[in-house]
Formats: sequence, C-alpha cells, structure tokens
Amino acid sequence: MADINNIIEYQFTCPAINGLHARPANRLEQIASGYSSQIIIENLQNGKSANARSILSLIAADVKVDDKCLLKITGDDSDLAYKELTQFIEKELPIIDDDAIVESENYNGAYISPVIRNAGVKVYPAKPVTSGFGIGHIVHIDDIKLPETLINSEYLNSQDELALIENAFDHIADSLKAKAATLSLSTVERQILQAHKSIINDSELKDKIKFFIIENKYNAAKAIITAFKYFSEILCKAQSQLIRDRISDLQDIRNQLLNFIYGNQVMTKICLDKPSICVADSMSPSDFISLDKTFLKGLILKEVGPTSHIVILARSCNIPIITDVQYVDFNLPEGQQVIIDSNYGFLLTEINEQVNRFYDREKKKSSFYSSNMAEFISKPATTQDKKTFKVMANIAMASEVETAIENGADGIGLFRTEIMLMGRDCCPAEQELFEEYKKSTVLANGKSVTIRTFDIGGDKNIDFIPIADEKNPTLGYRGVRVYQKHKELLHTQLSAILRASAFGPIQIVIPMVTSYDEVLYVCTILNKVKQELDSNSINYDKDIKLGIMAEVPSVLFIIDQLADLIDFINIGTNDLKQYYFAADRENQQVYSKYPDHHPAFLNLVSRIISEAHNKNLYVCVCGEMANSDQYLPLLIGAGIDSLSVSIPFISRIKAATSLHNSHICYDMLKNIIKCSSIDQVSEILAGYSLYNTEKSIIETELIDLDVDCNNKEEVIKHIVDTLFLDQRTNNYIKLEEDFWKREEIYSTGLGHGFAIPHCKTSHISKNSICVFRLKKPIEWQSIDSEPVNIVIAMTIRENQGAGNAHMNIFSRLARNIVHKSFRNQLKSIEDKTTIVKYLREQLELSG
Ligand code: PEP
Ligand code: MG
Repeated sequence: MADINNIIEYQFTCPAINGLHARPANRLEQIASGYSSQIIIENLQNGKSANARSILSLIAADVKVDDKCLLKITGDDSDLAYKELTQFIEKELPIIDDDAIVESENYNGAYISPVIRNAGVKVYPAKPVTSGFGIGHIVHIDDIKLPETLINSEYLNSQDELALIENAFDHIADSLKAKAATLSLSTVERQILQAHKSIINDSELKDKIKFFIIENKYNAAKAIITAFKYFSEILCKAQSQLIRDRISDLQDIRNQLLNFIYGNQVMTKICLDKPSICVADSMSPSDFISLDKTFLKGLILKEVGPTSHIVILARSCNIPIITDVQYVDFNLPEGQQVIIDSNYGFLLTEINEQVNRFYDREKKKSSFYSSNMAEFISKPATTQDKKTFKVMANIAMASEVETAIENGADGIGLFRTEIMLMGRDCCPAEQELFEEYKKSTVLANGKSVTIRTFDIGGDKNIDFIPIADEKNPTLGYRGVRVYQKHKELLHTQLSAILRASAFGPIQIVIPMVTSYDEVLYVCTILNKVKQELDSNSINYDKDIKLGIMAEVPSVLFIIDQLADLIDFINIGTNDLKQYYFAADRENQQVYSKYPDHHPAFLNLVSRIISEAHNKNLYVCVCGEMANSDQYLPLLIGAGIDSLSVSIPFISRIKAATSLHNSHICYDMLKNIIKCSSIDQVSEILAGYSLYNTEKSIIETELIDLDVDCNNKEEVIKHIVDTLFLDQRTNNYIKLEEDFWKREEIYSTGLGHGFAIPHCKTSHISKNSICVFRLKKPIEWQSIDSEPVNIVIAMTIRENQGAGNAHMNIFSRLARNIVHKSFRNQLKSIEDKTTIVKYLREQLELSG
C-alpha cells in the first residue's frame, strides 16, 4: 500500500481469467458504491482509467487477465474501502470466472473451407439455415431508428430536458426492480436484469447524458443516442468478447429510455438503402416482407427453425440466413461490412484480398451452376426410365409467379395466401383478393395455380383476426379450424378465387385438415358461393379442383371418406412431421431429432400417397422436404405426381431427377421403410448410386489447363467445385473436408512439380480424376520441394471398388510420373480431349 498525499495506491495484476468483464466489474462497482471515497482503477497496460463506481467505465478500461493495474483511493473512508477492495482483488477476483465458460476458439460445428480458415481473418462459425452467401452492412432490426426530425427537434431548456432524463431513468429502474421481484425468472433472465440494472444505475452514463444536455445543448433524444454511442464504441474496441457482449444490453436500455420518453414517435420500420445484412433476435414473416429485397443480402437471426415461415420466404428469395453465431453475440456495430456464408456456416467481419478472391470464385461458380441448370428449365422432370412429374413452385405473392415460370415451374403448387394478410389492420376487400389471384393465373399463362385458403394461426398471426392467447398455438386455433367463426372471411376468399378461375386453371387447397367435417364445411360454403356467382351470371371454372393439405397424420385414415369431396392431396411435410412426431417445428431441440428421412416418416408419406392413388387422387409434396435433392429419390420411389418447391430449387430438382431410375428408387424406399434407425437409412442413402452412370472417370469437364490458384487451399476448393459443377457431388463441402482429412495425414506433393491430392469418399457419385495445369507454380510440400504446377486429383467413391481401384490407379500414376516423357506430355498437350485420351491409355482406365 502506498499513501501519497492521502491517495492510497495498490498495484495488482488482474487475476480474472476473462478480465474485468461485466460480472467482476459489477462486483467492484457494488463495493465501491458503499464508500464515499473516490476510487479509480488505472489499466497500466493501455493507459485507460476507470471510475470504480461506473460499471461502464470499468468495462471500458478493457482490463484483461495479467494486465497490470493501479487502484487509487482518496477520501474519508479510504482505509476501509482499501481493505475491502484489496480483499476482493486478492481473494474473489481470481476465482470469479471459475463457474463461467472461458472464451474458446474451438467451436466444432461448421466445417470452414481452409481457404477462409487460413485467410488471416477472424471467422465466426455459425449454423447455416438457408444456402448462399451475402455481403452487406450490418443493420439491427430490433434496434430503434429515430427519425431525424426527432433527433434535431427543438431543445426545450436544460431543466426540461434533464427532467425527461431523470424521469425515464427512474421509471426504467423501477420497472427493472419490479421484474427482478418476479419469482419465476431463469438464471439467464436474472443475469440480464442484473446487467440492465447496473447500466441504469451507472453514474458515468447518466453524467455523460447530462453533460450533452447542459454543455452541448442537445435535446434528450440526441443526448441519449450520443452518450450510448460513446460507450458502445468504447466497448466495441474491447479485446474481450465478454465485454463486447454488453453492447446489446446497452442498446436495450437505450431503447427502453427512448421508448419511455418518445413512445410511438420512435420509428421502428427499417428502410434499407444499401446492401445490408439484417440482425435480429427473431423475425416475423411480415417483418421480412417489409424489407426491401434489392438491398437485403442476408439475415443473422438468434432464433429460427429450418421450416419457420420466415425461412421459407427467405429461401424463395435466395436470402442466406445464419443463426447460432459463435463468439459475437448480437452486438455487431451498425454499418459494419460483413460476409455471411450459409453454405459453410460462418460470419466474417474482416474482408481481405484472399476473402475477396474466394467470394469472386463463389459468385462465378454459382452463375456457372445456374447456366448448367438452364437446360432443365424448359424440360419436364424426367427420370432415366422416362417417368415424368411436375415440379411446381411455392409462392406467397402473385408477383412471384413470373419468376417461378421463368425458372421452369410447371405451375404453382402452393400459394400461401395468408402472407398477404400480414401487417394489415383489416381484411383486403374481395376485389383486391380477386385481382391478386387473377394476376397469379394470368402470369402462370395456362399452368395451374393451387391457391391455399388462408392458413391463419400458429406462427402466422394476423392482426385483424385476434386469436386469444393460447398455451400451444400450434395445437390450437388455426388453419381450417378458424373458418366457422370467420365464415365471412372464407366466403370472401372463395368468391375471389372462383372469379379468378375464369382467367386460368386454378385449384383450391384447404390447410390443416384433420377431419371429414371440416372439408364438408368448406364444400358447403364453396357451393353457396358458386350458386351466388351463378345467379349473378359471373363466370368461374365449374370444375374447379379441390384438395386438402395433408399436414396432420389423421388425414391418412380419412382419405377413403374424403375421396368423394376432393381431387388431390398436397403433403405439407413441415407440419406433418411436427404433428406426427409431436415436435414443434420452431423448436430445434426437438424438431431436428426427426429428419425427413426418418423411416417412420417415410412410411407415413408413402402410405398417404398410395392411399390417395387407390382413390384416384393425385398427390403433390410441397413441404421443405421437396427442396432437397438428397430426399428426391425417396419421393420418386413413393410415387409422387408432383413436387412444389422454392423457386431457386426448380431447375436443380429437375436436373437431379434426370439422374434417377424410379424402379431403383422404389426398391430403395421399400428397404428404408423397414429400417429401425435413422443411421441405417443414412447408410442406405450414402450407398445408393444415385447418379448418371454414363459419366466416366475422366472427362474434358474435369480438365482445366488455365487454373488461377494461389495456394493448395484454393486448388482443393477448385477440385471440389469442378466436381460439383459436373454433378458428381451434391455436397462439395463434405468432399472438401474429405480431401483435407487425407491431405493432413501427409502432403500429396509427388515431386517433379506434380501433386496428386486424393480421397475415398461417399460424397462422390462416380470415381473421378481431375487434371489441372496451374498458371503459376505453388508450394505443396513434396520430397524434392519443387513448386507444383500440375495437379491430378483422384476422388474415389467408397463402395465403388474403393480399395483396389484407388490403389491401382494411384500406383500406375506414380509409376508414370517418374518418367520425364509422361510429365512433359501433361505439361505440353494443349487440348483437353487429347489429355483425356492420353491419361486413359497411360493409366489403363476403363470406367
Ligand atoms: C407444410 O406444413 O409443410 C406446408 C407446406 O405449409 P406451411 O409451411 O405454410 O405451414
Ligand atoms: Mg403447414
């Protein structure tokens, strides 16, 4: 202890493993607040000093473990304060994080391409929800955006502005106190409340706001915004993630203050004006619809399930979504440019040359992929044994029909009409509905449009149809169940649909059917509407087809009876799975336990299809399962008449269909249904040779004589992308992982400027050899250390003679490479066809 001119000083080294983050800062603040002396902590490492009575200032000092610090105390009770504080530093601080999670870089979720992993930028792993990637500026959706007019509104006078602040601080403090008194709070909720209480009681924060009001003559709104920005920026620069995590608490308190003072003047509607990545805890379908898709490049959501309606909508607009981002929580600075990758599953907050190269190539790959798929747009989905079925589109708005048809849709298999009702305070008039449905059928240009009657409830809340709070909304008042009470709504919609049916083929499908009576009720109203139209001589399709959504398992047992009332069945696998397995589709913890290839589920789906076919009803599968080329053979095997998918998947599903044989699919499904576990099903799927058998081991598509790669990581990525574009893999990420697993055992540099990366994998359809000639030689660890400029990559399919074929080709290649003449041929042959021919001869390839 040093006592210089009544200042007591104590030097210490921070022993807390995660530094002075919110929790230890909170304890320090509590102790310091019990004394009248001035207590300062100086971080000698970075020169920042903090008032120990302000949690924000303590956090902002960015004290990390082992930082040298100086505690300075002046005042009447300095001796007592010294005693308690030093005791805290010596005894409590070293163990304060023992029960907390220490920051860790070892997230073992997503696989991250080594091109990015080694790019020298920080990578935040995340869970991918939809596919794709997006580059844009962070926009916090939950965040309050104050109108400029409010920020620049007149400054009353310091007294009145200060009174607004005092009042708001008191109110928020009281309401936090009241919340804390609630018995049923979880530990996390208590911790959040504690953090919020510390912020609202923080003397530095309030002083800063007052300073801006008194000195800068800012009104309360501007003073709050500026003061919070000041502290957020300090926290943002902190090296500890735990400290940066507090920014969201700051924003929360700021919003509560602004909301209290300005109420509904606080603007929440977000207008995007540049490429943006929106961040939110969760998002409703109507929030999503209101975002300008020209600028929306991606979403980072805290909570979202794979079949949530927001995900379904985003998928159809090609918007990537990630969730569960590790380490960053939700405090990304507004406006910061980031990349989200929902193919691999990560977030990047830094962008450098290597990252730019990676995404330039990803862009090229995806446009190449689209042009490869283009030939399927105009073709029907046809299996190798010439079975065809329709691939239709799921839409939420009539305006999407044009894009759907351009992308090859054979019609609209599901028009989710309830989306149009979201965010509105009254039901659109019949005329508006009619115009919308008419537009859809006119744009479909003779192709059929299946319009689903309003599917209200569950996660689709409609403001003008209030549904009382329910304990289990998914098991509650929703879909067809609301029609009896809201008869007018159904009547209006059916009338609009029927009138539109005069302009093109339309079908009607009823959501959430569980019993015969519900369908009978809709038929009664439908007949009534038909009579009314007849008596007013209004045209409509007299033979309009009626169907039901199979979303509740009970439907299987009433198909017999329903056959008199309906013409078709749309299987909604999203809800069907939820009700079959009693697993909330919004709850990942349970829903993810039941993948679409669960044998019991496949059994149910195939039984519905065969029951329906027995009754001459046709069947479409329109849940998210239909988007997957992995499950496609199972649905083909089950005998679907059509699929309805998100627009970006139409040509892809058609292309994938061309690789299957319906008999083989049928046999496989029969075997799968008998399986007792999901793992067994996965094994059968992995062993199934689902691809076009006509492809041979080496083809010109796999030769590239002008490869622009800077390193081994880029070359391996180029290999897997090449195989993906030639439809030899539908999982280039797993394939890349398999190449690297092999590469990490020992390097595949062969010497003489050659490398032969290879792997045995279940993620390739056919044994394949790629040959690349590099524009410039690269490092690739080999016996003679010579840089590599020729890469021959071998990908051998597991179970396709993996053992011997692999080794034989490999040893023939190794034998040949020692011959200068072979090497020279590969370095000099100028055209791909000759290379293919030459290698086939030299390696004695047959397949
Ligand atoms: C389904 O449940 O699978 C379906 C297609 O309907 P929605 O996703 O709109 O509930
Ligand atoms: Mg549904």
